[in-house]
Amino acid sequence: METTDFSSLDLAPELLQVVQELGYEEMTPIQAASIPLILDGKDIIGQSKTGSGKTAAFALPILNTLDLENRNIQALILCPTRELATQVVGEFRKLGRRYEGLQILSLTGGQTGREQAQAMERGVHIAVGTPGRVLDHLNRERMDLNDIATLVLDEADKMFDMGFAAEIKAILKQLPTKRQTLFFSATFPEEIQDLSRRYQKNPLKIIVEDAAETGTSIEQIVYDSSESQKSDTLMRVLQQHPAKSTIIFCNTKAAVNELAERIAEYKVSVAALHGDLEQRERDRVMATFRNGSTAILVATDVAARGLDIDHLEQVINFDLPAQAETYVHRIGRTGRAGREGRAITIASPVDTMKLLEFEKLSGGAFLRPTLGFKNQHGLNPFAHQSAMKTLSISGGRKDKLRPGDILGALTNKEGSTLTGADIGKIEIHDHISYVAISSSMVDTALEKLRTGKIKGQKFQARLVK
Ligand code: ADP
Ligand code: MG
Repeated sequence: METTDFSSLDLAPELLQVVQELGYEEMTPIQAASIPLILDGKDIIGQSKTGSGKTAAFALPILNTLDLENRNIQALILCPTRELATQVVGEFRKLGRRYEGLQILSLTGGQTGREQAQAMERGVHIAVGTPGRVLDHLNRERMDLNDIATLVLDEADKMFDMGFAAEIKAILKQLPTKRQTLFFSATFPEEIQDLSRRYQKNPLKIIVEDAAETGTSIEQIVYDSSESQKSDTLMRVLQQHPAKSTIIFCNTKAAVNELAERIAEYKVSVAALHGDLEQRERDRVMATFRNGSTAILVATDVAARGLDIDHLEQVINFDLPAQAETYVHRIGRTGRAGREGRAITIASPVDTMKLLEFEKLSGGAFLRPTLGFKNQHGLNPFAHQSAMKTLSISGGRKDKLRPGDILGALTNKEGSTLTGADIGKIEIHDHISYVAISSSMVDTALEKLRTGKIKGQKFQARLVK
C-alpha cells in the first residue's frame, strides 16, 4: 500500500512547503502512483479522470529536477488548447512560487511569436504550449531543445481528437533522445498507444479507475424524442429542470446557434460557444459562464474544452456524442467535488444501442421519467436566471492589474455603496478583465469604473452580459 503523504516524497523543501501552504492534505491517487516513478526517471502513461490532479503529478517532479541556473528550456509540456496551456502555466507558477527567478513561458496564440522568441532569448526554464505554435517556433529555429529533459503530452487524447498528430510527431523527432517522456490523458485510444510504443522507453501504465464513482453523485436522466421534435423536447426539459448553470451539448455549430437563438427568445441568459468564434469572443463567453452571468451555455465538445468551472448544475445532451468516453467526459463536468449533478440526454430512436453502451460505461443506471407538457407560457424566463452581470475592463495582466486592484477600485472609496458581497469572480486576462457584479448593483459599478481610476489609470468599462 503506497502512502499518500506528500512528505514521504523526495521533494525539495520549497515544494513541500508550497504544497502545505496550498492546503493539499494528501496526494490524489494518480499523484501517489506516478510521482515516485517520475522522480525516478521513468516514462509513464497516466490515465485518470478530469480534476484528479494530473498537472501537479508531472509539475512537482519537473520543478524538483529543474536547474534554475540553466536558462535553457528543460521541460516542454504540450496541451491541446490555449486555455488548457494557461491552466498548466498557472499550476506551475503556483507550485513553483518559492523558486526565485523561475521562468515559465506559454507558447500559444495568446502572444505574438516574436514576443515569445524574445522571452526565450532572455531565458526560460519551462515551456507550455500548443503543438502548432511550438512547431512554428521550431521551424523558425527560434527554440533551443537541446536541454529538454522532460516532455509531457497533457490531455493527449484531446490533442489527437483535434488533429495534432502530425505536429506532435514532428516535435518528438526533434527532441533529444535522452529524455523522459510522460503522457497524461483521460482515455487511451489506439493512436496514443502507437505513439507510446514509438517514443517512450519501457513506459509504465498507471490507470486510476473511476467508473464506479461517476454514477454516484450524478443523476442521469433520459427523455425520448423523435428527431424532428428534439428542439421542442429541449424547451420542455429546460422548463422542467431549472438550474443556475446548464451546458447543452450539440454535435454541430448550426445546432448550437439555432438552439441558443431559440432559448434567447425567452429572455434567458444564454450564450453559444463553438469553434468559429474568435478567441477573444470565446474567452468572453467562457468568463461570463464561469462567473454565473450566463445561465445556459450551448456548446460543441471541442469548444467546451478548457472551460474549467468549479460547479455545474446540469449537462444536457441535445445530441449524443459518437463515443461513450465523450459522454462520460461531458457528464463528469457536473457533480464534481462530491456535489450533486444532473445529466439529461434527449434520445431519438436511433440512439438506443448507444445509450446501452453509455449506461454501462458511466456506471450508473439511467432514469426514464415522463416529461411534463410544455406550459402555454413557454419557458419561464426566471427559471434559468443569472443573479450576476459581467463588466469588462480594458486592462489586464499586461497592465499589471490584479484582482485586488479592481476590487479596491469598486469598493474602497468613501461613501461607496458597493461591498465585497456584490462582487463575484474577477478574471484577469492579458489585455482585458472581467468582473461579475450582482445584477442590482451593476449600474453603480459601471458608473464607478467609468468615472474613477484603477491603480491611478483610466480604463474603459462596459457591460458585456
Ligand atoms: P486534471 O489535470 O487531472 O484534470 P488538475 O491538475 O487540473 O486535474 O487538478 C484539479 C485541481 O485539483 C487543481 O485546482 C489543483 O490545484 C487541485 N489539486 C491538485 N492536487 C491536489 C491535492 N493533492 N490536494 C488537493 N487539491 C489538489
Ligand atoms: Mg489536466
